[in-house]
Amino acid sequence: MPAIIHQFLSREDNFAVLVHDLQTGATAAIDAPEAAPIMTVLKQRGWRLTDILVTHRHLDHVEGILPLKEMYGCKVTAGNKAASEIPGLDMQVREGDTVKVGNLAFGVWETPGHCYDHISFTLPRSSAVFVGDTLFTMGCGRIFDSTAEALHRSLKRLGTLPDETTVYCGHEYTLSNARFALTVDPENRQLKTRAAEVEQIRAAGELTQPSTIGLEKATNPYLRVDTPAIQRALGMEGADPVAITAELRKRKNSF
Ligand code: ZN
Ligand code: FE
Repeated sequence: MPAIIHQFLSREDNFAVLVHDLQTGATAAIDAPEAAPIMTVLKQRGWRLTDILVTHRHLDHVEGILPLKEMYGCKVTAGNKAASEIPGLDMQVREGDTVKVGNLAFGVWETPGHCYDHISFTLPRSSAVFVGDTLFTMGCGRIFDSTAEALHRSLKRLGTLPDETTVYCGHEYTLSNARFALTVDPENRQLKTRAAEVEQIRAAGELTQPSTIGLEKATNPYLRVDTPAIQRALGMEGADPVAITAELRKRKNSF
């Protein structure tokens, strides 16, 4: 039985995601940007929080952990490399581990790039992946204490998931990402269509999530670093994909 997945806005532009197992009633939050909105949704749905799965240690992903833990006594799981900086941590996981939430089985992928100790959670039976700040709709997270090489490898790996996989990311940055993507991939028709849709969605005050791996492969420049048109737009024809990734991210930082 697939999970019920509910994604909603929290703080300014963070996403909270709840994943509910119908069979057992177990419910996981993917990251905890802020406790109050998560509690509100749990109450509305009549769900009890059993787990928090943490993608990375940045404050806007962990600040809600302790109040949620106090309220529900839920179990907190995070990557072993980030362990010392996760409040209320109960379980450390690493590449290849499986995290059980009721009958749901999440896979753990190490996806460095935004930070060196970032992890993502796959949920193959629901055809979903929770990528935190590694991959954003039409973009990716800024590189802090990691490298363009690691980022490229992580994004490429996420791109190996089936096209229909639903992608749940950590922030609503789609509009800015779409506008930037148009500057480096101007001939991409699917991108133009999607960017226009995103302008409308945001103008109406709605959210652009979630995305799919197939859609990202067609419109996200960081998953298209091998595309000649993008390389041309950057003046880097035939350049190494890592160099393209670094250049794209650098340009976006000052966009
Ligand atoms: Zn972050
Ligand atoms: Fe973040």
